[in-house]
Amino acid sequence: MEVRINNIRKEFDRFAALNDVSLNIASGELIALLGPSGSGKTTLLRLIAGLDFPTDGKIFFGDEDASHHSVQDRHVGFVFQHYALFRHMTVAQNIGFGLKVRPSASRPPKTEIKKRVSDLLDMVQLSGLENRYPNQLSGGQRQRVALARAMAIEPRILLLDEPFGALDAKVRKELRRWLREFHDRTGHTTVFVTHDQEEALELADRVVVMSQGKIEQVGSADDVYDRPQSPFVFSFIGESSHLPVEVKDGTVLFQGEPIGLSEGANTAGDLFFRPEDVVLTDESQALSGKVTACRRLAGTRIAEIDIANNGHAPFHVEVEVPLHAPVELGAEARFRPTRWKIFNK
Ligand code: ADP
Ligand code: MG
Repeated sequence: MEVRINNIRKEFDRFAALNDVSLNIASGELIALLGPSGSGKTTLLRLIAGLDFPTDGKIFFGDEDASHHSVQDRHVGFVFQHYALFRHMTVAQNIGFGLKVRPSASRPPKTEIKKRVSDLLDMVQLSGLENRYPNQLSGGQRQRVALARAMAIEPRILLLDEPFGALDAKVRKELRRWLREFHDRTGHTTVFVTHDQEEALELADRVVVMSQGKIEQVGSADDVYDRPQSPFVFSFIGESSHLPVEVKDGTVLFQGEPIGLSEGANTAGDLFFRPEDVVLTDESQALSGKVTACRRLAGTRIAEIDIANNGHAPFHVEVEVPLHAPVELGAEARFRPTRWKIFNK
């Protein structure tokens, strides 16, 4: 099911939790909504689900304007971080619940429900556990039951709000891969909310980066990591440093001096670069500063460098350096970004 979100605005007492949000989700796509807490991810998911309604704008499911349809009429499945299962029901009863409570006209016969539950158990790889109660399952198993329960009503879209948020890191990683594989098997249009960039980048076909009720960028993991389109995306995803620069006659100037970088148009702005996109250099046109800390990672090191700023607080940047490069604490280091982007002021 294709979903089109057109110019959505959502206000709570005049505060705009979402402001002019537009997004097209292709049928069968796995989309991650990624952003810091409070950026509007849950609000957007609730509007898609029909648990709440937009102040302005429209939501289409295919050609159907679903903006004001009730949650029952949208046929969506959702799983939340703390989507508690019914404690007094077995796994099988939990999964079958959504079918059993249907009005009799659309309720499948008992044998059919039984068959569907058994297929779903298979699908989430929990066959054999149908008679257990939730408290006899691990956290990861419980969330898979929640997913099976969401799938039981044959939803047109699957909406997942930080479904693995409450689980420990190792289980989360396993479930993340499992979900990707599950999605590829079942092909459901899926919107997945997370504040964990690793989860979003690994899992999703496309990542929607949100900040303060707006979409900052939509793209593949490569797009948002390698080609961030705003200072926010550059800083929020991965590691980065930035310095104020000017561009004059094709030359990038920092503190009025060329630093060995060229850029087209004259401008003033912030030069952003990632630690891994830096080389040490002896050239006279380069950035330089004092190494204030060195952190060993597995196969490399991160040097923290302070660049003097005329008596003001120094600029602080982080660059990756090879393990055996002559970079020492307290010494001067010269370096130049190999990939960078300048955002105009
Ligand atoms: P996220 O899921 O990205 O953490 P939310 O969508 O939950 O963010 O919230 C976005 C903003 O909207 C926050 O500032 C939050 O406080 C506000 N908000 C969300 N729901 C309500 C509500 N029911 N009433 C008032 N403010 C709300
Ligand atoms: Mg949320």
